[in-house]
Amino acid sequence: MISDPIVALATAAGRSALAVVRLSGEDAFDVARRVIAGFRSDPPRTATLATFHAPDGTSIDRGLYLVFPAPASYTGEDMVELSCHGGLSVPSRLLAALHAAGARAAAPGEFTRRAVLNGKLDLVQAEAVGDLIDASAPAQARAALEQLEGGLSRRLGQLRESLLDLQAMLGYEIDFPEEDDGPVPVERIAERAADVSRRIERLIATAPAGERLREGALVVLAGRPNAGKSSLFNALLGTGRALVTETPGTTRDAIEAHTDVLGWPVRLVDTAGLWESESAVDRLGVEVSRRYLAAADLVLLCVEGDRALGPDEEELIPGRQLLLVRTKSDLHAAADGVSALTGEGLGTLRQRLAAELFGSAASLADLEPGLTRERHRVALARARDALAAAGPHLLRGGDPVLASHHVREAMLALDELLGAMDVEEVLGRVFAAFCVGK
Ligand code: GDP
Repeated sequence: MISDPIVALATAAGRSALAVVRLSGEDAFDVARRVIAGFRSDPPRTATLATFHAPDGTSIDRGLYLVFPAPASYTGEDMVELSCHGGLSVPSRLLAALHAAGARAAAPGEFTRRAVLNGKLDLVQAEAVGDLIDASAPAQARAALEQLEGGLSRRLGQLRESLLDLQAMLGYEIDFPEEDDGPVPVERIAERAADVSRRIERLIATAPAGERLREGALVVLAGRPNAGKSSLFNALLGTGRALVTETPGTTRDAIEAHTDVLGWPVRLVDTAGLWESESAVDRLGVEVSRRYLAAADLVLLCVEGDRALGPDEEELIPGRQLLLVRTKSDLHAAADGVSALTGEGLGTLRQRLAAELFGSAASLADLEPGLTRERHRVALARARDALAAAGPHLLRGGDPVLASHHVREAMLALDELLGAMDVEEVLGRVFAAFCVGK
């Protein structure tokens, strides 16, 4: 296994009080010794104040370093974390010194990749490291942390265990085929397989909500020009993000903003008027709006006051999740109305939004570990299909060898998902999106 020393800035580059540089690898301590005056690898995990030197002997900074001897480190290798002053000069000089001392620049995600290869994290947890860093809404951060701490991995591990049991029972069938009423009747094996299938289905059913949570739910504001969409967009964001004017149809194309609604991640989109227009610019906007509407998790249909819906608005309703929002309630006093001007009804609207998008409880405390990305869903679908293929061979008189083959296939799908096998291709795909220093 490659464990040459790698180094990277772990904090964002730019003006800051402090910066953290990470160093990992078999010879990490030798590298550190060439840069850190009086370096000692003992005591571990204790901050020590020292001077960091450039190759020419001049000092770069005075800072702290911590030593993490293998295997009790993030990567599972010998690691050193150096804290220096931030900004553009000190961290880059420190990195240059560490390069000169024998460490190479880490590739994106390489620290986490090593953690996976050394069994410190499984792949699903490694993905959660990225999700936690990318999280903006509290619910996203919470779900990512839960996944990082092994919530989903445990559920997958239990499924894997059950598949192993199934394999073992089938193995007995294969070894002792003549024992018709062997210790495990074939009906019981089939029953167990059905139970695992049901559990896989339940997990797959968590995918839409999990993916929506990770990516943010797409909420599209629709309605006639001047219905108050842009004003509501701004009110929900709490900023003056979208341009609000009194000329109908001034929002030319869609404006998207990331926000959170009571802690839940939402991508809020303000569309141009959906309605036919003479202007070419507006027609372009209509096209963009239609595309957003088609992709929306929820459409907020804005209608001013208590006016009855027109056919153009009715047309939006079929086949999609939609909330009717009665706007400008300060002018109309419509029941359940919302006023972007006074803020009336906004709290209720937020609650309805969260409930519609993330379940009726919509409580952060109720988050259950589930699938959060397509890779998970595809792997579990593969496991489910493999088990389904095993089904006919699990009947009395069926072929246990074939059944066992399919169960093994299901297990492989889970192994690949967790990274239990050294699948370079899978690793490459997962870590391609990582930043350096992670
Ligand atoms: P859009 O075309 O649907 O995006 O509508 P706008 O948000 O641009 O609003 C159209 C007009 O209605 C503007 O003059 C807004 O100031 C006004 N408006 C929007 N929301 C409210 C509201 O809650 N109360 C009142 N009184 N006026 C509003």
